[in-house]
Amino acid sequence: MNKFLELATAGVQQLVPYVPGKPVDELQRELGIAEVIKLASNENPLGTGAKAAAAIQATLPELTRYPDGSGFALKAALSAKLGVAPEQITLGNGSSEILELVMRTFVTPELEVVFSQHAFALYPILTQAVGAIAKAVPAKNYGHDLTAMRAQIGPQTRVVFIANPNNPTGTLLATVELEAFIASLPAHVLCVLDEAYYEFVDPVLRTESLDWPNRYPNLIIARTFSKAYGLAGLRIGYGISAPDMADMLNRVRQPFNSNMLALAAAEAALGDVDYLDQTLALNNAGMLQLTGAFQDLGLPWIPSSGNFVSVDVLQPALPIYQALLHKGVIVRPVANYEMPRHLRVSIGTQRENQIFITALREVLQGV
Ligand SMILES: *Cc1c(COP(=O)(O)O)cnc(C)c1O
Repeated sequence: MNKFLELATAGVQQLVPYVPGKPVDELQRELGIAEVIKLASNENPLGTGAKAAAAIQATLPELTRYPDGSGFALKAALSAKLGVAPEQITLGNGSSEILELVMRTFVTPELEVVFSQHAFALYPILTQAVGAIAKAVPAKNYGHDLTAMRAQIGPQTRVVFIANPNNPTGTLLATVELEAFIASLPAHVLCVLDEAYYEFVDPVLRTESLDWPNRYPNLIIARTFSKAYGLAGLRIGYGISAPDMADMLNRVRQPFNSNMLALAAAEAALGDVDYLDQTLALNNAGMLQLTGAFQDLGLPWIPSSGNFVSVDVLQPALPIYQALLHKGVIVRPVANYEMPRHLRVSIGTQRENQIFITALREVLQGV
């Protein structure tokens, strides 16, 4: 009998691990399918950008050294590009680490953490890992119901997560309502504004939140190089907050939490305007391609501001997901997000999207 199971904290014992998108190699191994396309983890379909790749190459001979634990060069580049002070920036091993640092720094057992139904799966996991109490607030039209969320915030609440756009629904909040929500928060409640998909949002609808931490000291914005910048495999993201909050997170983080290749590649990627432009153009075209096909198939979808779209297959989605796997197409079932009839599809290249559309049509027609 392994007593260590009982020694783990109560929250951890009850934890259900995060389920990542199925890796391509795994499906190839399991089903012996040569060509597999993966549209399951909101990754950038363009591949590593040329400037990031060159920066990685140039950094390879340095790997015997520790990275710059302060991330000086990347923070300087972010500061210049975003117009925030370097002291406001916290670098992380993916923006997931920023979210985790906030939880470990500010949340103790018994405190409450508020987030929306259908919001990013990491929020409940991080909440449970620190033994805090999760308050999942019913969504409105698949998006965050800010009024209902505000009503759940009380004296025991320490953190509220807002994903804008949200994953897996792609829903976007209006700037005015979002800022009013943040302004209404009591001083003891910290707001984590998760903007992992910021770059994909239509510029007309985009919330420009980066100066908000100057007005709201209890706000941290999390962004990442994993999605639009195409560096998911390297693990690099950042938080923007008041310097005071960044200082607290800096005490908790591991001294070398951002690795040397990631720091170099992210700095180069920030300056690669062509790559970002191509990414956004491909995404916009792919969104039309996919939603046009859903329209033809008579399937409703949730309008998305991200690089993915969740489609209602009008029947339990898990068998459809499995049938797609057998045709070499990996998408993401979202039953664990209380969306049992939806599949979340990341936008791929035009060719990948077409392969998915053909496979979906065949599966729905039983071929
Ligand atoms: C992908 C994603 C992240 C972070 O990903 P990292 O790779 O850890 O930077 C954060 N929030 C949401 C909502 C995401 O979908």
